[in-house]
Amino acid sequence: MAGAGYDAVIVGGGNLGLWAARGLARRGVGRIAVCDRGWFGGGATSRSAGMVRAQGGTATAVVLGRDSRELYRDLGDETGLDDGFTRTGYYVLAETAEEAAHFEDLVDLRRGLGVRSDWIDPAEGQRRVPWLDWSAFRGATFDPDDGYVHPPIAARNITLAVARTPEIDLFERCEVTGLAPRSGGWTVETAHGRLEAAQVVLAGGAAGGVLAAIVGVALPVCGGRHHVVAYAGVGAGMTRPFPQIFAVGRGFYVRPEEQGALVGLSRREPQETADRFALPIDRAFVDGRLREVEALVPPLAGQPISRLWAAAVDYTPDALPVIDEAAPGCFVASGGGHGMMWGPAIGEALAALMVDGTLGELPPEEVGLARFAADRVTTHEPISLQAPMA
Ligand SMILES: Cc1cc2nc3c(=O)[nH]c(=O)nc-3n(C[C@H](O)[C@H](O)[C@H](O)COP(=O)(O)OP(=O)(O)OC[C@H]3O[C@@H](n4cnc5c(N)ncnc54)[C@H](O)[C@@H]3O)c2cc1C
Repeated sequence: MAGAGYDAVIVGGGNLGLWAARGLARRGVGRIAVCDRGWFGGGATSRSAGMVRAQGGTATAVVLGRDSRELYRDLGDETGLDDGFTRTGYYVLAETAEEAAHFEDLVDLRRGLGVRSDWIDPAEGQRRVPWLDWSAFRGATFDPDDGYVHPPIAARNITLAVARTPEIDLFERCEVTGLAPRSGGWTVETAHGRLEAAQVVLAGGAAGGVLAAIVGVALPVCGGRHHVVAYAGVGAGMTRPFPQIFAVGRGFYVRPEEQGALVGLSRREPQETADRFALPIDRAFVDGRLREVEALVPPLAGQPISRLWAAAVDYTPDALPVIDEAAPGCFVASGGGHGMMWGPAIGEALAALMVDGTLGELPPEEVGLARFAADRVTTHEPISLQAPMA
């Protein structure tokens, strides 16, 4: 590969980097390379829970969730394979009076952006979702079109799509170790030699900050530990396929998984490492939080656990993504911890920015790097996990 010349080199072959590659090829960018230090989809993408919702709390979140749902389905049609998306409907639960008032207001924002969202009071919630103890909540917003992607299928489909694209070269086990500007582009040093590129994309997931530092750009992305638990079954009353729930204030969510249920658990906890293999499972934390979840969702109590893992979520300080040109010809994509529900649309938006110079419907102040300078973060995506840097 030494000295090979590309129109664009993408660093990181996760959901964001791969969708960006596809977006660039579809816009006629000639030669594209994607380099991953591991394997495609092997980072947070395949370790995630795959929750996908358009029920965000900012215009950015709503647009990216709405468009990503469609893009997953379109890709399934194109590949002729299962798209991996299961439409379950999704309840975003409000616990305090303040949350309830805020969440109810968000219904209008979403409807204005073409997303179906309704406010559901606890009595109606109890009727629809009897397996949840609604006495702990003041209501929820609901979108029947939200659901989840099975992460390995999502990763397989986008990897297959780019692998079938003649303009795109894929390099696995190919760490990028250096990036330097040169006349008309960038020199990219990799574990397997040097590439020349007119444009580069940094899509390193939780390691994005480390990557951006190579080019002297401050990208405040940090990896925060997140636990996911799969129950092998569910008890009486929780008939599958059941809808998803997210108790935002408590930092847990529940969705269907195989014959049982999957539960994600988070807390505010800074992590130094972005290495997916280096995060130990905190069993005491998990057991304590599961008792809390099981008290609210009784059909989970006593069910055997089939899988349990911890991995690094790519948090940004405001839980919003980064889609921006960090330096001339050097672009950054970060999922803000929501790279499964937003990744396809982030990839598309980044490609549009690189080729056409436009962000479409996305507000620049919510996705640009400038918001991090001099503490100008004014918005925080409210429908998000408890981030270590919040
Ligand atoms: C346990 C868990 C559950 C989650 N659940 C959800 C969810 O339900 N819904 C949701 O929307 N999001 C969820 N997320 C977040 C989501 O998984 C991420 O936002 C998304 O996968 C980010 O995609 P990415 O492509 O940016 O990063 P990644 O998938 O991590 O890909 C980045 C890639 O960059 C590569 N890389 C890094 N540095 C270099 C380098 N120097 N050279 C070459 N390659 C490099 C890595 O090897 C990696 O493959 C979850 C995350 C975790 C960990």
